[in-house]
Amino acid sequence: MNIKVVAFDADDTLWVNEPYFRQSEERFCALLGEYASLHELERELLKIEIDNLALYGYGIKGFMLSMIETAMKVSGNTVSTEVIGQIIDLGKQMLNQPIELLEGVEHVLEQLKGKYRLVVATKGDLLDQERKLRKSGLIHHFHHIEVMSEKDDANYLKLIKHLDIKPDELLMIGNSLKSDVLPVLNIGGYAVHVPYHITWAHEQIEDKIDNERFKSAESITEVLELL
Ligand SMILES: [Mg+2]
Repeated sequence: MNIKVVAFDADDTLWVNEPYFRQSEERFCALLGEYASLHELERELLKIEIDNLALYGYGIKGFMLSMIETAMKVSGNTVSTEVIGQIIDLGKQMLNQPIELLEGVEHVLEQLKGKYRLVVATKGDLLDQERKLRKSGLIHHFHHIEVMSEKDDANYLKLIKHLDIKPDELLMIGNSLKSDVLPVLNIGGYAVHVPYHITWAHEQIEDKIDNERFKSAESITEVLELL
């Protein structure tokens, strides 16, 4: 391997993210319990979120709008403005959530700094991701921050072009096989999957990955042994 750039996914790779979405979803379902069962609410919300991705992109603000749309749909447009207000508050609480770094992250960044160019490659809302990076105290470790609207082959190719490296000089680390691993392998880069205990349904894939440029690690600290 001749890795020059080590890129990190942010949500559920550097810090906790998905549990806050699940927590808000639970509270959302409790608010709307009179209109539908928990299962129906979860299914409807996921469907509306996915349908809205192309319009809103990833992130909390799109999630808030999707929760409101779901509330209107399941209530036959009778949901109270008070409940809508509570849904907006749920989203604002998520936006103001303190950053909780995952174990080992700071150690790994300190070990790799100086040996590789370190990059953050994330999707989501630009303002929110910038705020989280600032609050994380990690920003000084990184040479470049890339917030993509979608983590696909084309956007990873743009990233390596911007970094002026060849595909096989990139190693991407992340918790999503769909977003952090498959597109990077597709363009000829290296990828390490560090699973997180909760994965959003939309990020889950069934494929088994068989590629010599792919590794799976139990924790982010294990990455140090692979490099
Ligand atoms: Mg992630």
